[in-house]
Amino acid sequence: MDGPSDGRTVGPRDPALVPIAQKVERAERLTRDDGLALFQSNDLLTLGRLADLANRRLNGDRVYFAANQHINPTNVCVLRNTCVFCSFARMPQEAGAYTRSLEEIFAEADAARDNPTREFHIVGGLHPKLRLAYYLDMFRGLKARHPGVHIKALTAVEIAHLARLERMSVRDVLIALRDAGVTSLPGGGAEVFSPAARATIADKKLSGEEWLAVHREAHRLGIPSNCTMLYGHVETMTDRVDHLLALRALQDETGGFLTYIPLAYHPDHNELGEVLGRTGTATSGFDDLKNIAVGRLVLDNIPHVKTHWPMVTPFISQVALTFGCDDLEGTVVFERVYHEAGAATPMWLGYDQVVSLIRGAGKQPAERDSLYQTVRTFEDWVPAVPGVRPRGPEGPTFQISHRLQAGARGRRLPVLSAVDASE
Ligand code: SF4
Repeated sequence: MDGPSDGRTVGPRDPALVPIAQKVERAERLTRDDGLALFQSNDLLTLGRLADLANRRLNGDRVYFAANQHINPTNVCVLRNTCVFCSFARMPQEAGAYTRSLEEIFAEADAARDNPTREFHIVGGLHPKLRLAYYLDMFRGLKARHPGVHIKALTAVEIAHLARLERMSVRDVLIALRDAGVTSLPGGGAEVFSPAARATIADKKLSGEEWLAVHREAHRLGIPSNCTMLYGHVETMTDRVDHLLALRALQDETGGFLTYIPLAYHPDHNELGEVLGRTGTATSGFDDLKNIAVGRLVLDNIPHVKTHWPMVTPFISQVALTFGCDDLEGTVVFERVYHEAGAATPMWLGYDQVVSLIRGAGKQPAERDSLYQTVRTFEDWVPAVPGVRPRGPEGPTFQISHRLQAGARGRRLPVLSAVDASE
């Protein structure tokens, strides 16, 4: 692999990647040191080529997407002052705080009647007063109105919060969610498992071990889930590798993860971005592609890797399809969480736009449901007129009102010295 060998391939420019490339070509599992070398390397094209090889073994040229709609029932969150990387949450009386009634949620979900929709992706803040019954009624109501739409709902953090509020076990909350129609869990709330990084960016949140325990319990109950890593803040390269290894270990144990999604930290309108002096500077395309590629290489037992275009732009996501990624997220429709953090991407993509992005990368689009069952392929596809953005309920709750501009109260600034950022 060192230099051109057979006239068709070019070996790694970074010598540290030579033994790793050999392992990938032999389909061998990578070690912690290998993962670290991958993150420390700037030989991005080799990372991409190796990850593309690993992805093709699993998924060929197929790239999945979902006709999905994001729903965020509330942005009120009891951790609003301690998750300093979050731009979405509000205190109950803070400007821009909202909590939807069930009728408002059903009205918003009715956009699904005018758009191809297979999945509701439902996440929100940890509201101090919204009880489990509110969520169960929501899911039952959505299933009654849209029986063909899968419900992917509630992060591990929200589930643990509900268990505390109701004095129930996590297992019993999960059973209740499943019985009300939840098909799978999203992967949010994992952030990065490193206790030191977590102490800086989210010190009151569920620990990494607790996050993994909720997913383990879900998998035992037959509820598949997704997993994430938030990168580009104060985490070290070692933190990233250890996070991936923890996900890989749980997947070895349960096989319940469907997809890994690296999530790019956005520094606008949150306290961490201010302290880091990063306002207006999101992660680089280089790091976005590297995180896709390394994720694909280390997580050899998770079938899919997704790029979240609202965070990294549709164009980086399109390039990611040749860096080990086989899922382009979906239509999304109402993206709020990252737009609160300054994402300059569109809030939605039309169905045909998603298909065009995938076809434009020379890949074969496949619309999927939440469980990665293919519901449509596009061999004879002819682009239609781009869709019209569906409308939700009118009103101030649909305005993005950035909380730092609105005057945050009770802000707790992070202590950066808690983390050795020298790696
Ligand atoms: S990251 Fe989640 S738990 Fe933390 S403040 Fe934001 S909404 Fe709340």
